[in-house]
Amino acid sequence: MRIGIGFDTHRLIPTIRKEAIALGGVKIPCFYQIESHSDGDVVLHALTDAVLGALALGDIGQWFPDSDPGNAGRSSGDFLSFALAEAKRLGWAVGNIDCTVHLEEPKLASHSDAIRTSIAQLAGVELQCVSLKAKTAEGLGPVGERKAIEADAAVVMIPLR
Ligand SMILES: [Zn+2]
Repeated sequence: MRIGIGFDTHRLIPTIRKEAIALGGVKIPCFYQIESHSDGDVVLHALTDAVLGALALGDIGQWFPDSDPGNAGRSSGDFLSFALAEAKRLGWAVGNIDCTVHLEEPKLASHSDAIRTSIAQLAGVELQCVSLKAKTAEGLGPVGERKAIEADAAVVMIPLR
């Protein structure tokens, strides 16, 4: 068994009209956009780093640098798929995933199952192997001031049979 953790943060930009942010591969409607070179999906970025970390394969920035125009606006599902393909090549598959999103708004409760389902599909595991938690920052720090969104991810990798 191998264990990995990941963290990611992006700047939130308020919008006049309702836009959407990508979380776990799901578009969540809200009055914010995420400042990012890719689609800015903090959950999938943290999770990709967790998978890479479990296998001591470096980090997402090493494999997909901001400086590469090919990564502009890129779907973050691609990053996770790459990490999982590397894991498979080395004989490992996802056992379970636990993620926490740090965000003041919008509330994620009504989107939680859709996000978990999306992550489970990307990771090739059952829904009950994917946990998603959402926390506010009680008005403190960049998350509390609605200037940032953050995500933590932990993953257990198990040997492929
Ligand atoms: Zn990111």
